[in-house]
Amino acid sequence: MRVSRRSFLKLAAAAGMVAAWAVGEPAAPVRRPWVGAGRGVPALARSTGQAGRPRRWVMVVDLAKCDGCQECTRACTAMHRVPPGQEWIRVYEMRDEATGLAYWLPRPCMQCDNPPCVKVCPVSATWKRDDGIVMQDTSRCIGCRYCIAACPYQARAFNWLEPAATPERTGEAYDPEWNRVHFKGTTEKCIFCPALIKEGKLPACVAACPMGAIYFGDREEDAVTNSQGETVRFSALVTEQAGYRLLEELGTEPRVYYLPPRQRLYPAPPAEPAAAPVPAAAPRRTVPPDRPGAVGGAVP
Ligand code: SF4
Ligand code: SF4
Repeated sequence: MRVSRRSFLKLAAAAGMVAAWAVGEPAAPVRRPWVGAGRGVPALARSTGQAGRPRRWVMVVDLAKCDGCQECTRACTAMHRVPPGQEWIRVYEMRDEATGLAYWLPRPCMQCDNPPCVKVCPVSATWKRDDGIVMQDTSRCIGCRYCIAACPYQARAFNWLEPAATPERTGEAYDPEWNRVHFKGTTEKCIFCPALIKEGKLPACVAACPMGAIYFGDREEDAVTNSQGETVRFSALVTEQAGYRLLEELGTEPRVYYLPPRQRLYPAPPAEPAAAPVPAAAPRRTVPPDRPGAVGGAVP
């Protein structure tokens, strides 16, 4: 989806602000014992955090590393059997109107610390855990879609049709920590893969990113890890690289941070055609044509 700086509910504008967000003293990257131990983060499962404090999960997306391959989306879809037409983490093609800078922006649920979706749900089918994850129990959802209207990040989707993977068809009991079976007439979204975190693993999208563009970890421990086993201080990463959050002015307090796409490590997205305005109601979604296996061109 190609998005200009003023569209997508000001996401691009927020992305371009590149606001320095001080979260602690800058520090050199640290190495953790589990570095190089594969894609899992075993220490996550073995402790309750420093000084017994609860975990505070955060995600950092380095836009300089993202090459728009959408492996994160595919991994999420496979992990949760996400119904067709939904993308719980969606990769947008962005373009800065002022500079013409093009880049990709993966957008999961922001796991807001002050989540407007939670406030409007009349049956508490969505709620925030102590570790900050905004859960979604679709077995309790009555399909009112208030949460979809309340979410400023367009991070929620609705099952209009009967999903292929229902509890009846798969024989699996519904578990909100996995969200691998689905119900017609309910709302769904990214949940940061709490079942994998419990096993000491990275969320599916984080582990699948071949560029190591997505970091995940515990803010209390001040450490985030990517798929390459690179573990760095969260505070240093966000402070030194001018990390920012989307639509911060709304007060939603997202737990997903972005690092600006400076000195990108991949070729820029193709130039936008001269006379190709993007209709707001029917945006075009593109994938890079040079990726092996990628389907180039527009996707409805
Ligand atoms: S991004 Fe949307 S769905 Fe996710 S917690 Fe925030 S308001 Fe709720
Ligand atoms: S998998 Fe990584 S590189 Fe690919 S689109 Fe997602 S964040 Fe970007």
